[in-house]
Amino acid sequence: MPPAADPSFPAVTRLAPSPTGALHLGNARTFLWNWALARSRGWRIVLRIDDLDGPRIKAGADAGAIDDLRWLGLDWDDGPYYQRAELSPYTAALDSLRARGLAYPCVCTRKEIEQAQSAPHAEDHEVRYPGTCRHRAISAQASSAQTSEPAAWRLIVPDDPVVFDDMIQGRQVVNVQAQVGDFVIATKAGLPAYQLAAVVDDARQGVTDVVRGDDLIGSTGRQIWLYRLLGLGSPPRHWHLPLVLGPDGRRLAKRHGDTRLAWYRDQCVAAERVVGLLAFWAGLSAERTPCPARDFAQAFDPARLPPGPIVFTPEDHAWLLQR
Ligand code: GLU
Repeated sequence: MPPAADPSFPAVTRLAPSPTGALHLGNARTFLWNWALARSRGWRIVLRIDDLDGPRIKAGADAGAIDDLRWLGLDWDDGPYYQRAELSPYTAALDSLRARGLAYPCVCTRKEIEQAQSAPHAEDHEVRYPGTCRHRAISAQASSAQTSEPAAWRLIVPDDPVVFDDMIQGRQVVNVQAQVGDFVIATKAGLPAYQLAAVVDDARQGVTDVVRGDDLIGSTGRQIWLYRLLGLGSPPRHWHLPLVLGPDGRRLAKRHGDTRLAWYRDQCVAAERVVGLLAFWAGLSAERTPCPARDFAQAFDPARLPPGPIVFTPEDHAWLLQR
């Protein structure tokens, strides 16, 4: 069950790891930032495990993520809540869209639909869906034909721009129909897709502030449409953080070496050192200095975030390993 609204907290945010692998420095940056923003402003924090997010869920990765977050010095007020624990809220949302003719079944390729199941990060090349099955659905209705093929479900996306003011990136105007077309909200396997699961949970958990990497900024327009079409009230405010890149300018990933927190822990690097590097990246300190998470939260000021992407350099790595 989601936490009940608590009037003593003015706002609610969520830490939402996907248990698809171990947390690395880029994830740590986003979670620490999210946590410090919340703690410095008295927001409530919900821990949500996005275990519907993607076909690559790994057994034990949820416990690993929770352990890494605690090791960094983070805490939360509610949760962990697991999306897979209760599918009925997502089914109810899908049923409501279907009943009002706002979604249609789609039998297009498995690859397209699998891509839609997980949160689309930078470098996931998204293509616009041309509406093939929307047209099919209309002609099938006309001839009362039924299909027994397993189908995914797509939202009928209006061809209108969505405008939102990102707290970091400023005003954004997106036309979701032009960008990705009618997007998948439930997979052929009968599971809610990332966009639907995220919106249903953010709404029922009372989330007012979503903080995440800006590789997910493209999802926000889609999520705002779902808020509107499901009648869920005002969407949350969004804070999209510039991505952490490797020295080659690409999103921090395995190709840049092992940046998992677990790896640094194995090398006996203290959490204060990792947080110290993240404080340096956040513009909170002029040089790299070890720093506990609570000091990070005390010094935290979003206005000090340097503009542009953050680059994880060989000097950062060497400093983490210094004794
Ligand atoms: N669970 C998602 C991820 O780790 C984040 C989703 C979100 O913040 O909306 O990529």
